[in-house]
Amino acid sequence: MKNSRRDFLQKVGASALALQLASITSWGAKRETYDGPVLRVAILGLGNYAARVADAMQSCTKAKLVGLVSGSPDKLTKWSAKYNIPAKNCYNYQNFDDIRNNKDIDAVYVITPNSTHHDFILRTARAGKHAISEKPMAINVKQAEEMIAGCKQAGVKLLVGYRMHFEPKTLEVVRMRKEGEFGKIMFFQGLCGFRIGDPKQWRLKPEMAGGGSMMDIGIYAVNGARYMTGEEPIWVTAQETKTDPVKFKEGVDETIQFQFGFPSGATASCLSTYNMNGLDKFFLNGERGFAEMQPSTNYGPIMGRTNQGELTQPATIHQAVQMDEFADIIFHDKQPPIPVDGYEAVKDLKIIAAVYEAARTGKKVSVTV
Ligand code: NAD
Repeated sequence: MKNSRRDFLQKVGASALALQLASITSWGAKRETYDGPVLRVAILGLGNYAARVADAMQSCTKAKLVGLVSGSPDKLTKWSAKYNIPAKNCYNYQNFDDIRNNKDIDAVYVITPNSTHHDFILRTARAGKHAISEKPMAINVKQAEEMIAGCKQAGVKLLVGYRMHFEPKTLEVVRMRKEGEFGKIMFFQGLCGFRIGDPKQWRLKPEMAGGGSMMDIGIYAVNGARYMTGEEPIWVTAQETKTDPVKFKEGVDETIQFQFGFPSGATASCLSTYNMNGLDKFFLNGERGFAEMQPSTNYGPIMGRTNQGELTQPATIHQAVQMDEFADIIFHDKQPPIPVDGYEAVKDLKIIAAVYEAARTGKKVSVTV
């Protein structure tokens, strides 16, 4: 690819260079001409992350933002103007179920507070639309299992916004681990956290968030421990510390350190916090090599190296790649290298429940996913 581009540039002038650059997507890959089906998506919940997804989707090839669902008429007006969304594809939470009659929308992407995913995803499924949920998929395992059952019954796909599952450097480390390039895996470390602001936000309300930092950011360490080692934990230990019990009330964890044991004998040691800024590091150690990534799960560019050298895979717009991949999964049953379905989300939620139990009881908790 590099060589052919160099050869090409040597043969042509500046205007052709502009043309060539225009065909390179903002996420680094050369844009293929695409004439397959396009996943027509409505975003439900027009908050901060939804805005990032909507912007990212402008550079998608296989997915397109075509609809909006919001409780706020003002946001519908602003967003529909910005993204050129016709009024017939805009819904509020009362008339949302009418989306079943809208032939121009294939999928609904739910990007609301954690506790609301359950109901919105079930309504999406009942409307016969493919359902995409943000992480964590639900606030507990029971809800998540009901969401899987509801989507199955309706015959629609259920996908979760695990954007790191498509990130090129992450996938390279997973490939190296699968091919034995690190030798037998012995240890994973995942450190995930940020200092949370506004004390009134939903993330600090246990009934809306389902917990605290673990549900929001610690989930990246849980999920990362699984895809980096390629194993599921069989036991969990955990310790909680709280420096500000006013901001982090009962049921909202500020900082939890937790450890996993895997069937092979490998272990993991992780930290989840709402009280340290920019904590974002993965480390994987095997008998013959290692990988370290920092940042490891933020919006990027992700950076990292292994015992073989720097990771040089291209930086991507995670949400754009995710949505293009979701189109392939929905239309062509494409199997992603790391699953992004409801079952994957249930595993994370079972493990998080075990972390909470271990932190509460001080005991080593067995877990089966
Ligand atoms: P946010 O507070 O910025 O936005 C939430 C939106 O949901 C708001 O527009 C709000 O009006 C709307 N909403 C709908 N029903 C609501 C209700 N009952 N109560 C309150 N608000 C309601 O939050 P956010 O940061 O955009 O997070 C939304 C979801 O996205 C969360 O599940 C979060 O975990 C997830 N998220 C994922 C990533 C990622 O990288 N994958 C990043 C950030 C957030």
